[in-house]
Amino acid sequence: MEFIVPAELKAVPVEEAKCYDVIIIGAGPAGMTAAVYAARKKLDTLVISKDVGGQTLLAPGVETYMGYQYITGAELMRKFEEQVRQFPIALEINDEVVKLLRDENRFTVRTATGKKFTGRSVIIASGRRARSLNVPRERELIGRGVSYCATCDAPLFGGLDVAVVGSGNPALTAVNELTKCARKVYTIARSAIKADAVLREKAERSGKVEFVVGYAVKEIQGGDKVERIVLKQTAGDKELVLDVRGVFIEIGATPNVAFAKELAELSESNEIRVDCDCKTSVAGLFAAGDVTTVPEKQIIIAAGEGAKAALSAYQYLIEA
Ligand SMILES: Cc1cc2nc3c(=O)[nH]c(=O)nc-3n(C[C@H](O)[C@H](O)[C@H](O)COP(=O)(O)OP(=O)(O)OC[C@H]3O[C@@H](n4cnc5c(N)ncnc54)[C@H](O)[C@@H]3O)c2cc1C
Repeated sequence: MEFIVPAELKAVPVEEAKCYDVIIIGAGPAGMTAAVYAARKKLDTLVISKDVGGQTLLAPGVETYMGYQYITGAELMRKFEEQVRQFPIALEINDEVVKLLRDENRFTVRTATGKKFTGRSVIIASGRRARSLNVPRERELIGRGVSYCATCDAPLFGGLDVAVVGSGNPALTAVNELTKCARKVYTIARSAIKADAVLREKAERSGKVEFVVGYAVKEIQGGDKVERIVLKQTAGDKELVLDVRGVFIEIGATPNVAFAKELAELSESNEIRVDCDCKTSVAGLFAAGDVTTVPEKQIIIAAGEGAKAALSAYQYLIEA
């Protein structure tokens, strides 16, 4: 097979002096896909990212990315990176965008290492961070029973007892997803269930859900895998131990938008508002993946949105 880019072009220098056609912020599935699409349109492309792979690096096993029946998140991201490196894309990795400004029809991007880059268009693909409980054993047991994504991991808990931590719509959506396969789903809320009645009623109708209200997770326990969780009353000292194999933490996520807060229009949940072409409220500024208002947060969706954002940026540049 012949690649369109000769090998000697593969390592592309990062240049502060030039104005890039497109600057992509983030190298998760959305950012890397956007980069490949932009480069194939022969756009002068710079990717700035804290890491290569994003949240997918934390996914122990992915069964929903077409073409792979099963692949670890890290391996899938290595394949994305290999593909990116086939193209003349400048990569500024291990750096963080701290400020994004628009001046006339140019964007200026400032990074944590003090660099300044200029672009005619920008694609924000900076993803989000799931909020964690910050309790003992939570981090070590990610992928070993601790999950932040019911859509991704619910089928792994067929016939088992699990717990969902959280009280809002995302938590009850996860509960309803889990009732399809788990044997029992404990739903742990610190004060009250705040989700819409329709979601709560659906959970109740399943006959598999037990609400444990007025408790917070104190500790997750287990050897190699989650075996139980210890709960503590929020307004008292009583403790409860639940034997579960899965703990789904659904207490929200923080989109990585601090650098763009003054520029892009955000939703109530701080996600960047985009239309179906990944356009934001600012001309020349596009966004893709988990950082946006697109509802489903999945690798394949982020990648697809990244492709769309790059094609929209291309259209914008040829019309500008
Ligand atoms: C534990 C876990 C398991 C998952 N399992 C699955 C699964 O099995 N299947 C599935 O489809 N989905 C799964 N997901 C969801 C999936 O990982 C996300 O939907 C997907 O990664 C979103 O891609 P993204 O490119 O939009 O954002 P991200 O993956 O979040 O990537 C964002 C990128 O931006 C960078 N960045 C952030 N801020 C800045 C900044 N200021 N400057 C520069 N760079 C920045 C980050 O370093 C990162 O490289 C899982 C998520 C988690 C957390």
